Amino acid sequence: MGQLIGKLMSICGKQEHRVIIVGLDNAGKTSIPYQFLKNEVVPTCPTICSNVEKIVLQKTHFFMGDIGGEEALRSAWNTYSSSAEFIILVIDSTARDRLLTTLSELCKMLAHEALDASILIFANKQDVKDSMTTVEISQFLTLSAMKDHPWHMSHQGCCALTGERLPAGLQCMQSWATVN
Ligand code: GDP
Repeated sequence: MGQLIGKLMSICGKQEHRVIIVGLDNAGKTSIPYQFLKNEVVPTCPTICSNVEKIVLQKTHFFMGDIGGEEALRSAWNTYSSSAEFIILVIDSTARDRLLTTLSELCKMLAHEALDASILIFANKQDVKDSMTTVEISQFLTLSAMKDHPWHMSHQGCCALTGERLPAGLQCMQSWATVN
């Protein structure tokens, strides 16, 4: 039934995609969809549940929900990521001491055999002086070894406070969505 609806929607030129936003607490997961709704595309009503937003870019509809990053909630990343088409991983570029925890959670998520998602990585808080560079983050997370899933991280990172470089990430997700 879901597939039929999906086909009918694509005939109408409308595509819907499920996105989850993960990352440790305080990384900027809540701020990012807020910026998407504020800055670009067509703002719409929250749907499904309180932390899921519908973000529309041209005819592509992304249902975006964030999952808590506190330790007790991280096990839910696997539960939700296995049914998502896209995962946005938000990293607090100022939190050097927490990057190992992010790596560990990313590895757990990637090890899940049901995972079939493309992964967009936002190195957030690049406005803060002495934040980690995207090269540092990318090397620490060994992103170049991630071969089983399409992934993208902007070389310049982003700032969820101002919305800087977030639209490019959304465009990237849209290009993945168009291909699939
Ligand atoms: P979450 O816990 O991952 O949902 O993180 P939030 O979106 O609630 O953000 C946590 C804190 O970081 C808040 O005080 C935000 O205002 C702040 N924050 C989020 N993004 C940025 C950013 O790009 N730069 C700076 N300086 N602060 C940010």
